[in-house]
Formats: sequence, C-alpha cells, structure tokens
Amino acid sequence: MATKFVFVTGGVVSSLGKGIFSSSLALLLKSRGVKVFMMKFDPYLNVDPGTMSPYQHGEVYVTDDGAETDLDLGHYERWTDLHLSKESSVTSGKIYSTVIEKERRGDYLGACIQVIPHVTNEIKARLLAAAQTSGADVVIAEIGGTVGDIESTPFLEALRQFRLEHGFENTFFAHNTLVPYLKSAQETKTKPTQHSVKELLGLGIQPDAVVLRSEVPLPSSQKAKISLFCNVPQNGIFEADDLESVYELPFALHEQGLDDYVLNHFGITAPAADLTEWHRWCDSVHNAKGEVNIALVGKYVELHDAYLSVASALKHAGYFHGAKVQIGWIKSMDVTDENAKDMLKGYDGILVPGGFGERGSEGKMAAIRYARENNVPFLGICFGMQLACVEFARHVLKMNDANTSEFDPKTEHPIIDLLHDQYTGIEMGGTLRLGLYDCHIMPNTLAYRCYQTEEVRERHRHRYEFNNCYREEFEKAGMVFSGINPQQNLCEIIELPQNDFFIASQFHPEFTSRPLKPNPLFREFIAASIRARKAK
Ligand code: GLN
Repeated sequence: MATKFVFVTGGVVSSLGKGIFSSSLALLLKSRGVKVFMMKFDPYLNVDPGTMSPYQHGEVYVTDDGAETDLDLGHYERWTDLHLSKESSVTSGKIYSTVIEKERRGDYLGACIQVIPHVTNEIKARLLAAAQTSGADVVIAEIGGTVGDIESTPFLEALRQFRLEHGFENTFFAHNTLVPYLKSAQETKTKPTQHSVKELLGLGIQPDAVVLRSEVPLPSSQKAKISLFCNVPQNGIFEADDLESVYELPFALHEQGLDDYVLNHFGITAPAADLTEWHRWCDSVHNAKGEVNIALVGKYVELHDAYLSVASALKHAGYFHGAKVQIGWIKSMDVTDENAKDMLKGYDGILVPGGFGERGSEGKMAAIRYARENNVPFLGICFGMQLACVEFARHVLKMNDANTSEFDPKTEHPIIDLLHDQYTGIEMGGTLRLGLYDCHIMPNTLAYRCYQTEEVRERHRHRYEFNNCYREEFEKAGMVFSGINPQQNLCEIIELPQNDFFIASQFHPEFTSRPLKPNPLFREFIAASIRARKAK
C-alpha cells in the first residue's frame, strides 16, 4: 500500500490541542516534500455539525466542496494551506446513516448488521477512499473525543483492525495526553498518562508515540518513566509544553525529532525540512508593533470559538500590516441606535459576521448604521451583508418595514429573500448554498482594489439572497453591487463608495484566509482601520 496513515488519539482530558498537534505534524511532513491529507473523525451522531448550535460546537467550517465540518479542519487548512474536502470529515452520523442506507437497500444480503464488522468496515473504507482520492503519501486522521468514551470506541476498534490488515509499518499511532502540574507538590504527574495508555492498550492499540501536553517543561526522568510504563521508546515521547505562541509548536516538535521519527517508522526518505515560510509567519507575529481595535458584533461572542475563522483572518490581516488586532467582542443584543456610539466609538473598524435568526439582528443593524453614518471602516459577512442591505433599505430608502424573509416572511419589502422555486419542503441539514461559487468583480470598485482581479471564487454557507427586484433602487441611492455570481446573477459583494471603506460579502472570506496570505477583504479592511486609527 502506497499511502501511510497517522492516527492521532487523545486521553485524560479533551481540549488537549490534538488538532494543533495534527496540524503541526502535517506542516512538518509537508515541509519535507511529503504529500499530506488530513481527516477528522467526530464521534457524535449528527451527520455534520451544520445543524448544531454554536454553543455546542463553535463555528461550522466550510470546505471548497461545501462540506460543513468541525472547526479543526480550519486549523488544518490554515496551518498547511491544504485544500481539504468532504472526505476529510467523518462523523458517526455519516457512518451509521451509510450503513443503515445499505441495509435498507439490501446490500448486506441478509446479514445481521453489527458494529463489528459493518460499522468498522465503513470507517476503514473512508480511510482508504480518502487515501485514494487525495493520492497522499501520508493521511493524518485525528480521532475526536477521549480514549475510553463509548462514542469513539468503534473508531478505535476500526483503527486496531486497520493496523492488523495494513501492517505496522504503514500505520502510526500518536497518543496525546495531559501531564498535570500539581502546585502544592511542585511536581508533574505521569499517572493519568499511564492510565490513558493502558486504556488504549485494552482496546488493542499500542501507541508508537506519546505526546505530552504540559504547563511546564518536563524533567527527562518523567519522560523515561512514561516510556517504560507505556512501552514506547524514549525517542517516541514528545513534549508539547505551553509555548509563548501556539505557532511555535512545529519548531518544538521538529527539534525533538518528530518528523524524523514518523518518517523512519514508515521507511520514507525525505529531504530536510524547509520551514522558511512558517518562520516568516512567526516573525511577523513576534514583530507586530502596531495595534488596531476591531469590534466584532455577533450573537455568540462569549464563545470565541463560534467565530474562530473570522478571528484568525483578522489576525492574519493584522500581522500582514505589522499590527496586533485587538478584538472587542460586542454582544449584538446589547447594541441599540441610542447606545451604538458609546459602545463602538473606541473601535477603528466594525465587523458583523455571519449568523442565523432574528435575535440580535436589530443590534447588528444599529452597529452597521453607526459604521455607515460615521464613516467607520466596515466589513460585513454573509448575514452581515444581508443586514447591511436591510439597514440601507430602512434608513436610506425609507422602507420602514424592510427585512429579510428569514424571520419576517410577510414583510412588504423582502430585501433578502429565498429565490423563486428555491427549497420547497426543505430539510434543515445540508440544504444551504455551500462551498465555492464564482464571483465576478466589477472594475473600478473597492472590491477590485482588494482582490486586484475580476474573477474570484469564495466559500458560501447561506440560504437567503439579496432580492434583485430592489437592485436598481439601491443603485440609484448609491449602493454598488461590485461582485456578482455570473451563473445565477446573485449578489456577492456590496459596497458604499461614499464611505472610505464599507464593504460586505455574501460569501465567507474568512475560510480562505491563510497566515501569510490574508484574504484580500480582511487585508484591506484592516489597512483601512489602521488608517482610520491614525486619522483620529
Ligand atoms: N441566515 C442567513 C442565510 O441563511 C445568513 C447565513 C450566514 O450568515 N452564514 O442566508
């Protein structure tokens, strides 16, 4: 078998940073010329996270091909600049629904359907399919959850079988654990790691590497102890200590020999690591001297993970201009026309991200109105664009009851609406306009100044559209439709040329932003915010 597989598991606690470890390993292998593909196995029974509340799950990340996925895929893509796909995201919900569909079709020829072998076979098939379609040298698959959870056990059982079937030399298990530091004893403790590896051994899996998450550097005696008790050679024990910046982790793991260790296991010879680009990114993070304050006005701001890609894209853009972006997390429900000035005057730019539902929408529009009337740099994304149009209709065009039919289906002025014949009797899951669509950019517009090209493709996740019946009226009042989807004549970007920087897109530019390649809308939004700050 040509493709090799790394399985990343976790024990002791969740939120260990398995996603960051997986991304770091992918980055290191990629820097050595190895072709990598990444997958995430999520043990929950939802088919995808698209229907889950942000409180449950954080943001829903969208790939080029329109998969609604776990936010870890965002880390993977940002760190490695890979383009992942539907194959990258596997949930128990997907596995079980495929198995049940096959059963209903009679594909199993009368067999009694069981977790072993039917569910585990389906899991293994997904690994092989991803290897085949990606043509990768190494597939890195992260298993969500913690070893010992009932939910993740079928995945681990499938991986145990996978190793048996495809060979030790083609599979590599990296188990991530926590080594807690006990302040009172002034000691780090290895016992939870020992127990967690025992749990994994009980499932028939011997890890090849143990990755230790720790608040403090670990004495070598502790690592020797873990090596002995966990049956892993000392050079297979890696430390992932808390670092000044999370972006330093690939360097720390490289110094400990992680990439060599994995490649040796697979018998792959590869050139030395070229980490110049990542060094450049880390330098830009360290050297950022300036500051810029951005208000992010959203419904779930107490949960920063709900806007992870937006926050990352703001950072990319900030560091590009040598500035640290300070995000003011403003709860949209708290903003009104009366208090908008007080709440927002300290900010150099205002961003209204994507969202669903009525709650907080008036507050978002109050923030948009404040930005529009006071010439504060503004970037609206998806719902943020839709509400910018509704706000414009209400206050510039004086259509007092203008709204989106998402939550006011009877409005006389459905500025944002479903397309004709669109979605009759729809289900909630997987029915949005998802993934990459073309956007044609008009020359001599702000959008063109951002992108410097007439044809772009960006990722979408929405159901409603700008209602073209109102286009002419909006244009007469000064709004410019600077980005249009040519196939369906859908509005993709709007802007107000009378302001210094007021732009909003129906697509989500945050999903294509990368550390050294900030998305152009974010890049220019931050540039405008820095200019506005200087002019104060
Ligand atoms: N709720 C809006 C729609 O469905 C916007 C979605 C979003 O912001 N992602 O069109």
